[in-house]
Amino acid sequence: MARYTGPVCRLCRREGAKLYLKGDRCYTGKCAIDRRAYAPGQHGQGRKKVSEYGLQLREKQKAKRIYGILENQFRNYFEKADRQKGITGENLLRLLERRLDNVVFRLGFGSSRTEARQLVRHGHFTVNGSRVNIPSFLVKVGDVVAIAEKSKESPKLKELAENAQSKAAPAWLEKDSNALAGKIVAIPSRDEIDVQVQEHLIVELYSR
Ligand code: SF4
Repeated sequence: MARYTGPVCRLCRREGAKLYLKGDRCYTGKCAIDRRAYAPGQHGQGRKKVSEYGLQLREKQKAKRIYGILENQFRNYFEKADRQKGITGENLLRLLERRLDNVVFRLGFGSSRTEARQLVRHGHFTVNGSRVNIPSFLVKVGDVVAIAEKSKESPKLKELAENAQSKAAPAWLEKDSNALAGKIVAIPSRDEIDVQVQEHLIVELYSR
């Protein structure tokens, strides 16, 4: 299945929640969900009764859309999370948080995960000194993510790095704004992951 290329605000309206897919615009009065808080399409303002399956499906779709992942890859993350010790739903979110594109976003180098993914794809970041251009690369504790030496001179990256200085990183990341880098100091706990998803519903959906 191809990646979704339609209007992203439509995805938030479908989920009935802000998914913060457009970076800075999401914090302005231009946010579509603030202006039209109902589902898109002809029946968007119609009947609202949702089945149990519907609720589970929506939570899964929400998580996929927040992290910008397609179905097969998302299911692979779920299966991996299910094989790990602990609570499967929380394991799933931890895996998603450890993606390189998410870490770049959390460090403030991209205004959205989409932008962060693009930066990673274009080879602007290194992990432990080696260039990595795979957005799904999973970082681990002790890894250092940094802007690649060559990219430090790019005006675009300079601007992003400047903006990143004013953005706070979560406690599981240690940001070094001078070195334009961040170190993974822990695997995030559930309360450090600020995504509004009821992960137990995703587990229930895949356990059907
Ligand atoms: Fe969602 Fe951001 Fe669009 Fe608002 S502006 S609907 S939060 S993507």
